[in-house]
Amino acid sequence: EVNRSTVIRAYQELKADGLVGSQVGKGTVVLHQTVKKSSLAEGYINPLPWYQLFAETVTSSNDNIIGDIMAITGSDNVISFAGGIPAPSLYPIEIMREIQSELFETANRELFLHSPVEGHYPLRESISYLLRQRQIVAAPKDTVILSGSQQGLDFMARVFIRPGDTVIVEEPTFFGAIQIFRSAGARVIGAPIDKEGLRTDVLEALLVRHKPKFIYTLPTFQNPSGVTMSLERRYQLLNLAYQYQLPILEDDPYGELYYESTPIPPLKALDRHGYVIYLSTFSKSLFLGLRVGWVTAAPQVLAKFAQLKQMTDLHVNTPAQLLLDAFIRKGCYERHVAVLRQEYAARRDKMLRALEKYKVPGISWDKPEGGYYIWCKLPDNILRHKLVANASKRGVVFLPGEAFYPDGTQGDTHVRLNYTFASPEQIETGIKYLLQAVRETTIT
Ligand code: PMP
Repeated sequence: EVNRSTVIRAYQELKADGLVGSQVGKGTVVLHQTVKKSSLAEGYINPLPWYQLFAETVTSSNDNIIGDIMAITGSDNVISFAGGIPAPSLYPIEIMREIQSELFETANRELFLHSPVEGHYPLRESISYLLRQRQIVAAPKDTVILSGSQQGLDFMARVFIRPGDTVIVEEPTFFGAIQIFRSAGARVIGAPIDKEGLRTDVLEALLVRHKPKFIYTLPTFQNPSGVTMSLERRYQLLNLAYQYQLPILEDDPYGELYYESTPIPPLKALDRHGYVIYLSTFSKSLFLGLRVGWVTAAPQVLAKFAQLKQMTDLHVNTPAQLLLDAFIRKGCYERHVAVLRQEYAARRDKMLRALEKYKVPGISWDKPEGGYYIWCKLPDNILRHKLVANASKRGVVFLPGEAFYPDGTQGDTHVRLNYTFASPEQIETGIKYLLQAVRETTIT
């Protein structure tokens, strides 16, 4: 099966290896270069054909969407709804500074030492405490600290996926996960979601047909859709997992950031049989640069993760773990998250009001009850590929929906709008400009 991106990639690889090129007036041509034998004496060394050496699993994923978003977000003259970054004005800088200087006085040796592969034990205790608030009962030994939950996704791929294996994901889902599973050689199959989350009625046929190694789900305030899986669907999903003996990978970066009532318990809290591998992170509740996340799972899975952790980078950075642990123990974490809930609820409402105010025909959205994103449906007759350029000309960036589907474009006309990073004033102006761009880019 040859699609456009395969052809483009093949072309890029040939070009990089110097085998094709452009010639004025001829377009793309195969270059008949005489490949000289390497000879130091002649002073000529053949260029190294990198693309022939790269392992196919890695080169097969050539998009750099996360890197691209990180590059645009943060520039002063851009209003960014693109990334999934906390509000910089709410970073707990003063408290972190105090804790840091206390640590330098009291724990200075420890701060500079290595820590256990599974993570700093007191931090694993603090995480047990936080998990209890999410209704998950887990001992410190049930958790391994990771360099962000992104590392958990990578380890899942390395523990479970052999090239050709299948993974089921929600459609749409977090693009980082699609990228990671795919680069391990997985076939990534999408299962549809609706307002109650994963369509468990469709899922069973997919399980029978594709025999996946695991199911990846974001049940609470999903990225990108903002949808939360209903309690009934959660039980149905668990029952399917038990019936077909499949692990569930539950990714929960946003669960604590609820803006209405307390959310439905995580799958991990409902699972009495150890089938759920639970990932979470401090990236969305504290700051992205911390790079601390964790996995809570069955001992067999944790042993594999610990083995990979040791091989990959030994352990998570010790100062980050000590700083975070002190921050939680002093009660600062809970206070901080309470502030975030208030502020992000206000920013969400601001964005919802702006969408209503500047609305154009054919657009629609749902109100997320928590998390970071509004998943906004644009008019069907929009020129999708022109919208990104038209909006960025006006200084607004966002993520187009197709990035979140395992099959790429799909004709999707959603955009993911993050409301935590931009200031309330920027949210108002940004939505106004974005919807002007939508109007201008829609064929009438
Ligand atoms: N999973 C999901 C669903 C995410 O949205 C993100 C961050 N965008 C991650 C995992 C990775 O987060 P981190 O590695 O910073 O913990």
